[in-house]
Amino acid sequence: MKFSTRAVHTGVHKDEQYNSVITPIYPTSTFFWNDLETNSGYDYTRSGNPTRDALNENLASLEGGAACVTTSTGMSAVYCAMALFSPGDHIVVPADVYGGTFRLFDRYLSEKGLSFTFVDMTDLDAVRGAITPQTKGIWIETPSNPMMKVIDLSGVVEIAKTQNALTICDNTFLSPYLQRPIEFGVDVVMHSTTKYINGHSDVVGGAVISAKVETGERIAWICNALGLACSPFDAWLVLRGVKTLGCRMDAQQSAAMKIAQFLTDHSMVETVYYPGLESHPQHDLAKRQQDGFGAMLSFDVKDGRPVAERVCMQSKLFDVAESLGGIESLISFPVTMSHASMSEEGRAAAGITDKTVRVSVGLEDADDLIADLKQALEGA
Ligand SMILES: *Cc1c(COP(=O)(O)O)cnc(C)c1O
Repeated sequence: MKFSTRAVHTGVHKDEQYNSVITPIYPTSTFFWNDLETNSGYDYTRSGNPTRDALNENLASLEGGAACVTTSTGMSAVYCAMALFSPGDHIVVPADVYGGTFRLFDRYLSEKGLSFTFVDMTDLDAVRGAITPQTKGIWIETPSNPMMKVIDLSGVVEIAKTQNALTICDNTFLSPYLQRPIEFGVDVVMHSTTKYINGHSDVVGGAVISAKVETGERIAWICNALGLACSPFDAWLVLRGVKTLGCRMDAQQSAAMKIAQFLTDHSMVETVYYPGLESHPQHDLAKRQQDGFGAMLSFDVKDGRPVAERVCMQSKLFDVAESLGGIESLISFPVTMSHASMSEEGRAAAGITDKTVRVSVGLEDADDLIADLKQALEGA
């Protein structure tokens, strides 16, 4: 069955007693046993819960994976996937990886015996050059935040295979509707379900999907041992959200394309970073490996910080907020918000300056969003 049909139906029927159309929430910590040998298949909610399993089945199907675990946050999903590695292992990571992931790798996991090399992953030679005999993993995130650089999934997988290294892809920015890394040979896909998968900005959560059954079993073991799983309530919210993923994405990316074109044509805008534009350096690659260009974009204004600030503060439909992927449009200033903890040199290397503004396009009417950005850019 096709994607949207699976989004609506996979995993959802779990009420044999009253036939509710929607999966019930099972807010219970424990499940009683029929006798001392048998139970219903569930014994304790950290290890398993029917509402969470409904979501796990759904997301595994959408990503084309063998198994999925869902976690309390996107970061706990990152941590869960990273627990596959052992002290001494080396992992290659994109230099402009999500800030929270960078912090976990650079300031925590590197003290626990893992080592990391951060490279410009759009350059496959740089990836090859970073490989050492200890390399056990390559972390991928594409498109990147906030400069929307696109990484060649097949290219990185090919390099990883020569080394027998595991590939893990953070697929948060596009969602499985627009990109399924497992189809390109990636071993593990990770999500912050906080973003497009839930899509309604009312829950934080994460998911780890494995291509192979054995990896999935190991990840489920880790998730239970570390106690990372999400609550039944949160699982229910995300399962509610994911059913509309396809139509949300269609509408949001079509508005994003119109906004990208409006900004490209505007005299006060210097550069627009959106993989859907032919001017984007990896436009052809994005066309090849993605089913669409997504609804995130960034742009540099010509006159620097005052104009960037004005765009953020004077837009009325775009809330100034971190996060992305919800039904409401958000605008942010990476220098003081999402990328504030990065050094200025780090930001400069990634191309993030004080004229960069990031936008997450929601479900509002595209013409209204464009009119709003126009008045904010041009000022009173
Ligand atoms: C938000 C985000 C995360 C972290 O997810 P949380 O739900 O905030 O813990 C990881 N990767 C990317 C690309 C993100 O956007």
